[in-house]
Order: sequence, then structure tokens, then C-alpha cells
Amino acid sequence: MIEPKSRVESMLKKLRAHQFRVTPQRIAILKVLVCSIEHPTVERIYEQVKSDFPTTSLATVYKTVTLLKELNEVLELGFPEGSNRYDGNKPYPHPHVICIKCKKIVDPDLSGLADMTTELKKETGFKIIHHRLDFFGICPSCQKKYK
Ligand code: ZN
Ligand code: MN
Repeated sequence: MIEPKSRVESMLKKLRAHQFRVTPQRIAILKVLVCSIEHPTVERIYEQVKSDFPTTSLATVYKTVTLLKELNEVLELGFPEGSNRYDGNKPYPHPHVICIKCKKIVDPDLSGLADMTTELKKETGFKIIHHRLDFFGICPSCQKKYK
């Protein structure tokens, strides 16, 4: 996990550069995005921020997350069914492991990824600029539950 404080600072810097008004509610949204390891949905971020800032609206959370996505400060994981999930700690492309039962999403440490990219480049001649690597399965706690 990247140092949350430096991630929040990087987000704030970009938001300010885009004349975005930084309010305590919005800082709370950034903190949830950066500190959460669960890859939250917008609704989930809203729930968490609302407990400290009851006046926060879902629209504000949407707006903030969308802007951060446009500024490459948050990674969006879209799914054909269900809500998008967000990673504000690692805003760059990285692999994910997804539980099909409880929808838990984990960041694995995949040491072979750099080799895979080199191999792809060599084989296809492509300049690789982005990747989306999702592994779907059943997490350890769901394996116990559904046995
Ligand atoms: Zn699970
Ligand atoms: Mn992630």
C-alpha cells in the first residue's frame, strides 16, 4: 500500500490545480478512497463519509470520484453487472483478484507481470500503455462458508 498521506496530497494538488473547491467533506472522500483496501463503490464511500459529514450528498461523491478518475488519481474497475469499484491507493493499472461470491477485491503482488508485458511487446510489436488483468475466484472465507 502506498503511503496514504502522500496519495491524498497528490490528489489535493491536482484538484486545486483544476480550481476544485476543497471542502472537509471532499477531503473525507479522498481519505476513504486512499485508505480503503476494499475497492469501494461510490455508494460505499458515501455511507462512510456520511457518518462524519451528514450533509454530504451522493452527487458530491460521484462528482469527486469522476473528476479524480479524469485526473488519473483513481483507478476505476468497471463490471458489466454491479457497480463500479474504485482504487485510490494505486491509481495505475494493476492486477486484481475478485471473489465471485462476496465481491471482495484484492491487490495481489504479481512478480511475473513485468516479464509478461515484455513478452507481449516482443510477440505483438505493440506499445503497451494500459492493462486490465482480473482473476475471478472464491476467496478463502467464502470457500469455508459455501463448502
Ligand atoms: Zn468471498
Ligand atoms: Mn487495486
